Amino acid sequence: MADTIFGRIIRREIPARIEHEDDRCLAFHDVAPQAPVHVLVIPKQPLPSLAAATPGDAPLLGHLVLVATQLAARLGLDGGYRLVVNCGRDGGQSVDHLHVHLLGGRPLGWPPG
Ligand code: AMP
Repeated sequence: MADTIFGRIIRREIPARIEHEDDRCLAFHDVAPQAPVHVLVIPKQPLPSLAAATPGDAPLLGHLVLVATQLAARLGLDGGYRLVVNCGRDGGQSVDHLHVHLLGGRPLGWPPG
């Protein structure tokens, strides 16, 4: 997988507001937040997108989602929140390193804009 800005954040080559780190993932605040809380949860292992995931990645994908839910609780998103995974350019993905967006802190309309 080609290196990305998220790889540089994992290696601490560029700064980020980190909320969580464990052996499998890193979570940090989005630099251009779309809601009062906007955190990205990313795997440390290289995985460019959801489309590249295999059945062997299922535990990792579950871990990313569970970490996002734990962060939602810790960050006080008691009224609810949204998890988003953009996949591919048509899906709105701009960074080719899989990431789960955690959005909350205001009412989020549906369908999204
Ligand atoms: P996506 O469009 O799903 O690929 O989302 C990529 C997200 O990464 C966007 O919401 C960007 O604002 C965010 N982003 C890009 N560079 C950085 C950075 N250096 N630190 C934090 N978030 C970033």
